[in-house]
Amino acid sequence: MTAPAKPLPHSPSPGDAPGSAGDALHRPVIAWFDAHARDLPWRREDAGPWGVMVSEFMLQQTPVSRVLPVYEQWLARWPRPADLAKEAPGEAVRAWGRLGYPRRALRLHGAAVAITERHGGDVPTEHAQLLALPGIGEYTAAAVASFAYGQRHAVLDTNVRRVFARAVTGVQYPPNATTAAERKLARALLPEEEHTASRWAAASMELGALVCTARNEACERCPIAAQCAWLAAGKPAHEGPARRGQTYAGTDRQVRGKLLAVLREAVAPVPQATLDRVWDEPVQRARALDGLVADGLVEPLRGGLYRLPLT
Ligand code: SF4
Repeated sequence: MTAPAKPLPHSPSPGDAPGSAGDALHRPVIAWFDAHARDLPWRREDAGPWGVMVSEFMLQQTPVSRVLPVYEQWLARWPRPADLAKEAPGEAVRAWGRLGYPRRALRLHGAAVAITERHGGDVPTEHAQLLALPGIGEYTAAAVASFAYGQRHAVLDTNVRRVFARAVTGVQYPPNATTAAERKLARALLPEEEHTASRWAAASMELGALVCTARNEACERCPIAAQCAWLAAGKPAHEGPARRGQTYAGTDRQVRGKLLAVLREAVAPVPQATLDRVWDEPVQRARALDGLVADGLVEPLRGGLYRLPLT
């Protein structure tokens, strides 16, 4: 059904640049966030920059519900970067549990080591310093600078990209990979004032996570329904390249997950024969194990033994 496009009267937030592209979006989205944001541990005052950084690593490809218990255990065990830096990288992989994409655990460990060695154990405040840490890309650097230090950065995750694609560009889904045009749009939509920009980053992300979701957009309770270009156009169907599926069963990722699960549980090096039992197909099993070794997630030892990495 086509909904009428009724631009709201302009009501700039205190931090808006007059006439900026996002003026009419900031106030309703931030007001909605103030009323509906989830109370998540990494958003609390006591989370600190390290808590924010850990959450950003964990949340990149994993839903909040699965992250929560691992996050709590992680911060209880390693409340500061230096605590994690002292451990073997394999301990980070072990504690990562079943969050998936376990290279993130190694990257987080590497970042903790660099923070300890280069920054006296404190998560650096500057975006460029964050970006220079191993394993930290543009998204994570922007997210930590924005959420931990209240700075003004475009924080472009999947949820934000979907909200912008629909509300502003008028299409159902963003491209499969982030484009220069999306980055330009995100910068154009950023409120001028630092604190407002930081709130906007968190609020637009939460809107994508709770209301404008990939499968079930809840336009009837969306604070920017009146300005949404995709809704106004009658929600035209996606015309771009096919959406990437999330298949898992039968993939190398599944085999890698099974192999790692055995090694996480083990207190001593594991023989090849034990690993062979997790998957029947030998070629795929060998490929998965080789991949884990190449990624530094598994360390091969003499005598056909394997363990999580010590160095
Ligand atoms: S109106 Fe609907 S499609 Fe548009 S941003 Fe809100 S939830 Fe998403």
